[in-house]
Order: sequence, then structure tokens, then C-alpha cells
Amino acid sequence: MSTITFTSLGQGPDIGSNCYLITHGATSIVLDCGLHPKKEGLESMPNLDAIEEPPLAVLVSHAHIDHCGAVPRLMKRFPSVQAYATQPTLSIMDRMLHNSVSVMGTLSMERGIRDYPLYSHNDVEMVVRRTYGLDFEHEFALDWNSPIRARFHPSGHVLGSAGILLQMPGHTLYYSGDLCMNDQELMPAMAAWNGMPPVDTLVIESTRGAQDDDGQKQTFEGEIERFASAVEEVLVREGVALVPSFALGRSQEILNIIARLMGEGRLPEVPVYASGLGRAVYEIYNKYTEYLRPESNLRPLSEFRRIGDVWERSVRRELMKSPCIVVATSGMMVENTPSAMIAQEVVQDPRHGIFFIGYLDPDTPGYKLLHANVGDEILLEVSGHPVEILLENRRQFSFSAHASREELCRLVDRIAPKNVVFVHGDPEAVAWMNANCSGDYNRYIPPEADSIELDS
Ligand SMILES: [Zn+2]
Ligand SMILES: [Zn+2]
Repeated sequence: MSTITFTSLGQGPDIGSNCYLITHGATSIVLDCGLHPKKEGLESMPNLDAIEEPPLAVLVSHAHIDHCGAVPRLMKRFPSVQAYATQPTLSIMDRMLHNSVSVMGTLSMERGIRDYPLYSHNDVEMVVRRTYGLDFEHEFALDWNSPIRARFHPSGHVLGSAGILLQMPGHTLYYSGDLCMNDQELMPAMAAWNGMPPVDTLVIESTRGAQDDDGQKQTFEGEIERFASAVEEVLVREGVALVPSFALGRSQEILNIIARLMGEGRLPEVPVYASGLGRAVYEIYNKYTEYLRPESNLRPLSEFRRIGDVWERSVRRELMKSPCIVVATSGMMVENTPSAMIAQEVVQDPRHGIFFIGYLDPDTPGYKLLHANVGDEILLEVSGHPVEILLENRRQFSFSAHASREELCRLVDRIAPKNVVFVHGDPEAVAWMNANCSGDYNRYIPPEADSIELDS
């Protein structure tokens, strides 16, 4: 038997800045180290001050910023710490973190956020140099003289995403990361659990814990059909379909769905545009096609046009002149991002359509726009003017890259651990999981700024 200590360093009880400290004897290990997507400056950081001794390693489950955005700060604070990720995650992290530095630089100028940028391009380069990129299902030691072994298990969420198996003497832990249990257009579902060792402690995400999908469950294909009809309707009346999309995962998936629908004759052949960071990540998908579904036929990036400088009104206006589909970041239409800049034109003409394909936080312009009435005004550019919404056709589709709560509970039963810790969810989501995933195991919701002791 062996006891470990689990501490959630993320600030606040929500999806937040994912960062978990595992202590086993004198050794500590950090799982993920992300920035809170809704907070700014130092407030978006996990509480790294709670880590007293240099950790042995930080293991990164995937390259979304809420899971890896604070790794440069952790490595600056503890120069001896070693980082590990899958090879594709390392490549994507490189692009995402450099992009973060640029975004933080812009925000510091535009909004005067003093703490920004939280790190520099040099710091990111140091992270990339000091991170080992590993294959899936390859067991490795965290240090030459450490008995602790780890392994990345494919989690089906985005390219490179993994659950992390941590085998410490007398205690085995599995951290799910973000996971998806059904095939997407490109990504295969989370790998089967067969052949995995018995787990003492399971740390599992709860993203969709508050979403009741029973009865109204849309199949992936059914949702694609609804999406295709909506886009077709816009194109037929010579409009533009704007699809705000997350740079990592959603963008590559939806571009390939659109290309397939056109190939099948389900959508008219019109130009399809893709914005900057989504294109950069697309190139990495192209490098690692062996991790995609064998039957997925990843289109060459050259099939999708560049949008051009969205800060130029003439460029945006030109885009509105003939029917097309525009896939642009950010997915929640955060102010000043390509999707928000383009939306300033799109909302002014009732022929067009705006189709959200992912989660929308209630505080974001995307959510406000989806729920606004015709005639309302919306601000999409920080130092710009609000624009009047004349467009009625604003809709949301569900292409989640996260498992449903029923699937998560079935996975807990399948793994049959001794302890389960529910993380990565709003308070209602985590509470639902804690109340409903009932089996012969101890259940925990991590207390804020406190630790839990877990026996094997
Ligand atoms: Zn994620
Ligand atoms: Zn996440």
C-alpha cells in the first residue's frame, strides 16, 4: 500500500487552469499546467507557489492552452524540471505557446494588462528544448534513477491528446486528460482500455457532467446533416457562412467535414477559407496522419484559402462579395480575433449565417451574439464601435470532442479504480459525476487550495 497526495492547483472550481500536483513520498509530479481561459494576467495562472520543492517532472496531456499555457512559468520557476508530452502535442504546444506570447503582447498594449506577457518567445523555446516528445503507449522512466514510470494512452480528443498512466511504487494513477469516446471526422475515439494495468486512483474530466444528452442525443452524422442543411441554405441565397472555430481540433475537423460534404455533392462547391493559427496546427495534423482515423482522408491544406488581413475592412468586404464558407478562430468569437472581426460584416446582412460548433462561455461575444435579438448592438472589436445585428440566422451545433457523462461513468466502471477524483468541470458538472458515477470506489471532488490523501 502506498499513499499519495493530490492537490488541484487550478484557481476556482471550474474547467479553469488545469494543473495537478501529485506527491509520492519525497517526489512530486505535475500533471498539466494550463492558463485559465476566462481570467487575465497572473489571475489566469495556476497556484505554482503551492509547489515548494522542485517537481521531478511535468507531464502534459494535450496542447490546449488550459492544459499547457503555464508550462513556461513552471519551467522558469524550477529550471531542473523535465517535461514530457506526446510528439504531436510537443509540436502543437510549440505553435500554441508562441501564439499565446503574441496574443498576450497585444492584450498588454490594448488593455494595459501589466502582467502580460506572462512569458517570452525565448521562454517558449526553452520549454520546447526541454520537453521530451514520446510515442503513445511507450513506457518511460521519469528520471534515470527514478522508479516512477509513465505512459501516454490515446484519448481521442485532439491530435496528440493522451491520458497519462503514472506507475509509482505501490500506487498506480491514471489521469484522463480530455477524452472523447466516439470517432470524430479525423480523430479516432479513445483507445480501448484492454491491457492496461489495475489503477488505484483515477483522475477524470467532467466537462459534460451537467449536460443531459439522454433522449436528445444527436449522433455525429445527424449533426453533420443539420450543419450541411444550414450552410447550404446560406450558400444558395449567395450568402457567407461564418464558422467560428477553435484553432486546435475543431478547425481541422470541420474543414475536413466541409470538404467531404462538397465531394459528396451535399454542399455546393464554393471557396473555403481558413484562418491563421488553425492553418499552422493543420500543418502538424498533416505531419502525423498515422494518428488519425485510417479512413479519414485529410485534405491538403492548399484546398483552403487564406483569409488575408482581417484588420483591413476592404479585405473583409471583399470576402462578403460572393458565397463562401469561412472557418475562423476564435471559437467563442473573442474580441479582435479573426472570427469576431469578420462577424462585424456578417451580422449586417441577413443573407449570411453564423454557425457555432463548440462550447460558448456565457461571458464571450459568441454567446452574446447567439442569444441577441435582431436590432441589438454588439461590440466585437475592443477599440471599435458596436455594430447593429441585422442577421437572424445564428445557430449552434454540437460537435463535442468530450465524452458524455454517461460514457464517463461507464469508463469509471470499466477502469474500476479504488479512488476517483472528478476534475475539469463546472461545479454542477462535477457534482453530477460525483453523485451519479456510483460504484465500489471512493469519490472525491478536489477542495480548493487543499490536498487529498489517497491510499492504494
Ligand atoms: Zn482540451
Ligand atoms: Zn480541457
